[in-house]
Amino acid sequence: MLVERGKYPFRVPYLTPPDDLGSLFPDEAPYRAKQVRHWLYRRPTLNAASMTDLPPAMREYLGDNLWPFYVEIEQSADDRATIKWLFRAPDGAAIEAVLMGYKERTTLCISSQVGCALACSFCATGQFGFERHLLSGEIVAQVAYAQAYLREIGLSIGPRHLTNIVFMGMGEPLANYDRVREAIRRIVEEMGMSPRRLTVSTVGLVPGMLKLAEEPWQLNLAVSLHAADDGLRDTLVPINKRYPLAEVEAAAANYFDRKGRRVSIEWTLIDAVNDSVEQATMLASIARRLHAHVNVIPLNATPLSEDQPSRKAQIQAFVGRLRSLEVNVTVRDTRGADIDAACGQLRASQSTAG
Ligand code: SAH
Repeated sequence: MLVERGKYPFRVPYLTPPDDLGSLFPDEAPYRAKQVRHWLYRRPTLNAASMTDLPPAMREYLGDNLWPFYVEIEQSADDRATIKWLFRAPDGAAIEAVLMGYKERTTLCISSQVGCALACSFCATGQFGFERHLLSGEIVAQVAYAQAYLREIGLSIGPRHLTNIVFMGMGEPLANYDRVREAIRRIVEEMGMSPRRLTVSTVGLVPGMLKLAEEPWQLNLAVSLHAADDGLRDTLVPINKRYPLAEVEAAAANYFDRKGRRVSIEWTLIDAVNDSVEQATMLASIARRLHAHVNVIPLNATPLSEDQPSRKAQIQAFVGRLRSLEVNVTVRDTRGADIDAACGQLRASQSTAG
């Protein structure tokens, strides 16, 4: 379901196709649209007042309408190495994005949908169900906002521009394929990011994975596996009943073959659920067949589930087994745990707080 344009009180630049920006300024000379396009995509700014080469009337118009959302919450954690935003669209939709600075990279985690229909048992977004797809412009605006923030304010660590973008916020990007595709096109072609710096993370929607393999970009693909046999995966990731492991693995192998890019496997470690050494052994077989890197993420506990993160010793045993089987594995740090920065959590805490 698309947001109807009428629901927005005005025509918003980021929701207007880049080629069509002139339509917002019918009385201005055509080169003005080019200037706006440059500001929006090449040099985003938090405030239109900084667009100094535009006439005051245009700046004023843009000032009122620049972002397709407002910032309802901005929280920082990890000594300002992490910033989390809850953006609110005019129709009430909540859009979360998390910006994380590291010594040599700055990564933005963005949302592709409001809520999610896939209902993975441990995921805060899934627990709240599906509201709507994000528009391409709403996805791109998260990137532009972070880019502007980095240039004008910055984190306590890391490059002052985005080096990486991951579709690991709210939603399933491959369930919103066309809008996500157009957002990626704009991020690459309009903003100038290398597709190699973008990662699409999927729960394993096989048709979308096959489609993505045919796109012109060398994107990274991450597959959220969480279980290495169908019996267990059916309980954690309900869509597994439709696209079982063997099909997901075949689609990941196809991606590797078509792109020559290694896929990564995401594995959220849940205490006494999927952290056994047996699972690690089975995961190792899959990872080795795919030449995949494994990212292990200790669970961030969510309000509607009893699940807890695996204990340290169990994480070590799990990871140790993978390594002993010559699988590359990284344990992700749980950035921003104290600001509910895990998938869908900020929104969840807002909703439960009323
Ligand atoms: N729908 C996509 C992308 C969004 S989720 C996907 O499933 O990949 C991004 C990642 O966060 C996924 O690997 C997901 O499994 C993980 N994740 C979701 N909820 C989590 C939680 N409570 N704790 C830790 N990781 C979680």
